[in-house]
Amino acid sequence: MRLVGAPAGSGIVFRRTDLDNFEIPATGRNVAKVSYATSLMRQSVLISTTEHLLSALIGFGVDNVIVEVDNLELPILDGSALPYVDAFQSVGLKQQRRKREYIRILKQLEVRDGSKFIGVYPGSGYQIDYTIDFPQPIGIERFIGDLETGDYARRIAPARTFGFKEDEPKLRDMGLIRGVSDACAIILTAQGIQNGPLRFADEFVRHKVLDLIGDLALAGRRIQGRVVAERAGHAMHTALVQRLMRDRSAWELAYGYDEAAETRIEAVKIGTGVLPASLPAPA
Ligand SMILES: [Zn+2]
Repeated sequence: MRLVGAPAGSGIVFRRTDLDNFEIPATGRNVAKVSYATSLMRQSVLISTTEHLLSALIGFGVDNVIVEVDNLELPILDGSALPYVDAFQSVGLKQQRRKREYIRILKQLEVRDGSKFIGVYPGSGYQIDYTIDFPQPIGIERFIGDLETGDYARRIAPARTFGFKEDEPKLRDMGLIRGVSDACAIILTAQGIQNGPLRFADEFVRHKVLDLIGDLALAGRRIQGRVVAERAGHAMHTALVQRLMRDRSAWELAYGYDEAAETRIEAVKIGTGVLPASLPAPA
């Protein structure tokens, strides 16, 4: 995988170098199927497991970039966004001469599905209030944070994906997982955490925040507003993006808070050219 800088206003675009540089922009229009990971598809060309990279890009402040991949699946790495953020930090960002564009939320939009809920509301910054309720050993966790305070790299990026050992056969049947490895996910059993220690006491909800930021990147711009999610997941996150795109009266394009310019990455290569076999995990 290689990331290459892109002109201001172009957004985040995936490029399949193994398919004549076929491009798939990271927008809600191209969301394919969403179960345990978010995939994009255009003209039957697929890119799967996009959420962790998109989260890292938004969290780190990268607005315009081309993501070159030679495979349909993004690498899972250690199951978090930290390897991406580390790579971005090593090359730095380049400021562009246009102000950053935001999707400024003007009115509330809510999506409910049984006990699952997600809503977006007007507000300054990019506030996220996420509550999860999973079987033990996770239970109920809540995390409240604001992306504009610059805490993403430290508080969100290191949180790893997680999965229940019991779900593994089912996931395999769905073709979603080729085996859960200790190296790329927190593995849970009814007895507890199989491969501790956790990086944060509330690492599970922090990972859901990470996923949410990545999925909401598909709105095409950073959100300016407040997002509340309860027991949500990729399907709910992307449902909110679709609602936003359909309801043009719910938001407006706004420009940087002060002189903040759009930023982009110059070029960064992650991995060694060959993607490691990636294992989308159930979170
Ligand atoms: Zn995830």
